[in-house]
Amino acid sequence: MLMDHQQKKRIAIFGSTGSVGTQALEVIAANPELFSAEILTAQQNEELLIKQALKFLPDIVVIGDETKYQSVKQALAAQPIKVFAGEKALTEVAAMESYDVMMAAIVGFAGLMPTLTAIEKGKTIALANKETLVVAGDIVMRKAVENRSPIIPVDSEHSAIFQCLLGETRNRIEKIILTASGGPFLGKKPNFLVNVKRDHALQHPNWSMGAKISIDSATLMNKGLEMIEAKWLFNLLPHQIQVVIHAQSIIHSMVQFEDGSIKAQLGLPDMKLPIQYALGFPLRLPNNMPRYAFNKPDKLTFEEPDIKTFRNLQLAKESLARGGNAGCVLNAANEIAVYAFLKNRIGFLDMTDLIEKTIQKIPFVEQPTLEDYFESDGEARNFAASLIKL
Ligand code: NAD
Ligand code: MG
Repeated sequence: MLMDHQQKKRIAIFGSTGSVGTQALEVIAANPELFSAEILTAQQNEELLIKQALKFLPDIVVIGDETKYQSVKQALAAQPIKVFAGEKALTEVAAMESYDVMMAAIVGFAGLMPTLTAIEKGKTIALANKETLVVAGDIVMRKAVENRSPIIPVDSEHSAIFQCLLGETRNRIEKIILTASGGPFLGKKPNFLVNVKRDHALQHPNWSMGAKISIDSATLMNKGLEMIEAKWLFNLLPHQIQVVIHAQSIIHSMVQFEDGSIKAQLGLPDMKLPIQYALGFPLRLPNNMPRYAFNKPDKLTFEEPDIKTFRNLQLAKESLARGGNAGCVLNAANEIAVYAFLKNRIGFLDMTDLIEKTIQKIPFVEQPTLEDYFESDGEARNFAASLIKL
């Protein structure tokens, strides 16, 4: 019995109440002989956190919002579960011995410090939180190498590329092709987008996701962030990363090698697949999820993204080419812009203007330290927020 327990992968889900976090728990529940959930964290949703804790009986839970500590503590008082609260606790818990694999499923810049801490402890990282790499990809990847901390992508495109690269360590990548669904406003022009409201923008045609990434998908910023994420994960130059609109989201991404051969990974769009792949790696786990059926007529289409209309993608490309703290500033301005749009404070197209103005304002730092990243993030947030009087 003890042997059995020791062989299980002990998972820490940072952001367990979110879209990725809840699906990661479904994977753990479906494979109890392989995984146990040892750490669960949430920012606000204490009800769901408590429910999850009572079901999975982790070693530790963390509630970000300190005002909710007492209610979580009380609800779990009869269980042998340690309860912590606050931002600092999140990073302290990331350093603990009680887990092997971090599912990094916090949204935004807030995921950076816990993930970096886990890397410094040599943990395996199943990385959903792309913002971590957009902000500080150089430091994150350097520390991952130094501490032999494997980073397994969870983002479906990067999981696809990761899978295509297995067995190809001696072969050079010519380029990667990141597929994009195009989001709910594919084919639309600025005269339409100017009137778009939050609830419409939250309706993604193929994927069900958290609010922030849903808006990023609607503006194509998500694909821009993913270009920067891919640069760091796979050590690529900007010209080696191509974005192609593929509205059906069946091909999750592709790699083209020096002989012109292209490998792709396909499947129905369901985040549980890349989540379980990252947790199970190097094993593929059997499941009963629906399969793609080649006998049903279905066109797979490909087209160029409309970067004149979806200018966020262009801004992200420029940040990718610029390097330094450019990704960090882009990300911070985008987090404020998406927050303001979700609160109905600014319009859909205003998000791009806000990001562009912030990029122009914040000083460029060519080789930032971690402190520089924190400073650029804070400056960019303050400036962006001041423009819209948040
Ligand atoms: P979500 O909004 O559904 O969940 C976010 C989680 O992070 C929640 O558990 C929340 O409590 C926690 N959180 C939020 N703010 C926090 C803070 N300041 N401090 C600590 N914890 C905080 O988000 P999601 O859609 O699950 O996405 C999570 C990450 O995964 C994002 O970086 C996203 O880009 C990436 N991702 C998501 C999907 C998807 O299908 N949802 C796909 C690919 C990548
Ligand atoms: Mg993705």
